[in-house]
Amino acid sequence: MLRASAEYSRSVTDQPARALYPQANSVEEFAQNLADVRANIAAAAERSGRDAAGIRLLSVSKTVPEERLLLAIEAGAVDLGENKVQEAKRKAENLADQDVRWSVIGHLQTNKAKDVVAFADEFQALDSIRLADALDRRLQAAGRSLDVFVQVNTSAEESKFGLEPGEALAFLEALQHHDSLRVQGLMTLALFTSDTDRVRECFRILRDLRDQARERDLVGPGELSMGMSGDYQAAIEEGATVVRVGQAIFGARQTPDSEYWPGFAK
Ligand SMILES: *Cc1c(COP(=O)(O)O)cnc(C)c1O
Repeated sequence: MLRASAEYSRSVTDQPARALYPQANSVEEFAQNLADVRANIAAAAERSGRDAAGIRLLSVSKTVPEERLLLAIEAGAVDLGENKVQEAKRKAENLADQDVRWSVIGHLQTNKAKDVVAFADEFQALDSIRLADALDRRLQAAGRSLDVFVQVNTSAEESKFGLEPGEALAFLEALQHHDSLRVQGLMTLALFTSDTDRVRECFRILRDLRDQARERDLVGPGELSMGMSGDYQAAIEEGATVVRVGQAIFGARQTPDSEYWPGFAK
């Protein structure tokens, strides 16, 4: 497991990744990157006999400062994903005049629930009843609701957040009592490895869970948020309806992923 993580970590922080994901610094460069990603989405949808219109592109803008983010927004990135709530809240405040949608996609501590309620349109990393309780309470007080995805750890890695697959259905069942949370579907991070069979296996675990949850009417529209810069095309072939793409749009990140996924090899 750790070996696989280290492989990925190298691939995103070393020189080759920077060449693979050059930094976009103008509206034109962002437009080009977005067009390339959308073309790849369309091709993957076509290969799997799906309609690309049913696949949402979430542009993951973590670490990207507001000035550069404005260029991406102008180029058409309107659905933005951020891993850390503090950073996301700051950007949402600074860019309040922009017509964008904010999705928080990273682990959230219960005591930060109020921050998500303050600005987020969507939360994709729901993984505990305590957090669901806190969000629901804050949302009720604010008189609003929130779209949520339940995060599942499909890779069996200690370093990943999310529920064990075996816990997910009972969790969805328990969520039915949280009126302000609109369950949209499931979210996962696949194993970080170049072994695509093992990556796809993670996506299939999530899809199977979604199918089971659907039979019991527990998962709203049954969205599947899976796939990042390195694996979104495979994710689409396995059924993704939301892909979370950062580096392929904004360029390689300098910050190691251990910042976002504790326990992740540096
Ligand atoms: C950063 C991040 C992504 C996007 O990763 P890229 O390699 O930049 O495409 C997707 N999902 C989550 C939860 C993230 O934190």
